Amino acid sequence: MNVCVIGTGYVGLVTGACFAEFGVNVICADKDASKIEMLERGEIPIYEPGLDAVVERNVQQGRLSFTTDTAGAIESSLVIFIAVGTPAGEDGSTDLTYVDAVAKEIGEAINGYKVIVTKSTVPVGTSYRVRDHVQAAIDAKGADVDFSVASNPEFLREGAAIADFTHPDRIVIGADDEAAMAILKDLYRPLFLNETPFVLTNIATSELTKYAANAFLATKISFINEIANLCEEVGGDVQAIARGIGLDGRIGKKFLHAGPGYGGSCFPKDTESAAFFAREQGSSLQIVEAVIEVNRQQKKRMVEKIRRALGGDLQGKTVGVLGLSFKPETDDMREAPAIDIVQGLVEGGAVVRAFDPVAMKEASKILTDVTYCKDSYEACENADAMVLVTEWNQFRMLDLERVRQKLRRPVVVDLRNVYDPKPMLEAGFDYHCVGR
Ligand code: NAD
Repeated sequence: MNVCVIGTGYVGLVTGACFAEFGVNVICADKDASKIEMLERGEIPIYEPGLDAVVERNVQQGRLSFTTDTAGAIESSLVIFIAVGTPAGEDGSTDLTYVDAVAKEIGEAINGYKVIVTKSTVPVGTSYRVRDHVQAAIDAKGADVDFSVASNPEFLREGAAIADFTHPDRIVIGADDEAAMAILKDLYRPLFLNETPFVLTNIATSELTKYAANAFLATKISFINEIANLCEEVGGDVQAIARGIGLDGRIGKKFLHAGPGYGGSCFPKDTESAAFFAREQGSSLQIVEAVIEVNRQQKKRMVEKIRRALGGDLQGKTVGVLGLSFKPETDDMREAPAIDIVQGLVEGGAVVRAFDPVAMKEASKILTDVTYCKDSYEACENADAMVLVTEWNQFRMLDLERVRQKLRRPVVVDLRNVYDPKPMLEAGFDYHCVGR
């Protein structure tokens, strides 16, 4: 089976590489020529552990290729995945410009039956919008071509994307006709044989499942952050509470880590989009609205926490920030809590020195008033505080004595609760964390 993936970003490249790994012939198309040139040179444009090996293997074995010729890729494929970005619009709506453009290109290039699958996260109704664009383009050229549309949302996590794609918790496929469903089930057969659960449903349900999943995960994060804030008032320990409730199988342990609030390319825009979409439908997602607001407040609260740790004033203080990406094992800076936190510190008059193992190049495009350092210790040099924002593993094993010698004052603000408070206090640090 020949498959084409349009949009070779975090989702499209992983999708293409992993389908090739399953034995399918895949062409990944992107309009960004520099990205395609990099891939053709054997370079990976993003940081995603393990992706380079999968790409290299499948290119060598002739199952994976890259192109800017989207029309050619469409013509030679039976299944076409749309994996372009769906950023948030100004008002929280979803900007479907890229999806619309791809749908038109598909309609112009289509030369026979195809299954057109929306993998991008999109509001309910978008697959039908794709269908209408494709049909309009077919009509405009006076052709008569049959095609199906389907929805197949992606649940992979950046940083663990290969494992998530090849061993997913479930596959969700929404299709309204049997032909499309049969072709997609066949494409995913390696996972079907693997006993991966499949949720086969209609298109609207499939599209909404993705929003419901992200909104629920974001809810867990905002929930535990509110409990953390209450812990700070009453002397509770949010980590013990997370364990105390997480061991209940109905609740589950994951996504109960108190911290600076969620970020990334998905949760912020997807919660906004779900809430917007519900309002637009004359319905409401009141819990999701509250989750968004709690998250907004949480990021502000972190700047306040740092300010208090520095004696109430940021003016003239130097802060060493460790970790910038929205989570470890990725260079993705989209909506990273570090952005609001660093900007808040700079606005308050602080000087920020920062280190991240892989995200500094991306971060420097957004955060310009920062001195980027070669390692954690350089970031702490003569700083009034060390602030841990992203919990990269290497920050768990810092030489704390060396950190203390580098710092002007032994203040540590641990926004990920990586360290144990007691030994930190015993080691002479003025230690601050979240909800403990
Ligand atoms: P991305 O920005 O990394 O990649 C999108 C790619 O699409 C870019 O390379 C861009 O050049 C390309 N593109 C845009 N218009 C194009 C066109 N007309 N023709 C060809 N290529 C075009 O985005 P992403 O993070 O991979 O996300 C893609 C979608 O998947 C979004 O809807 C997102 O919400 C969803 N998603 C993302 C993740 C994640 O962890 N990043 C997880 C699940 C779902």
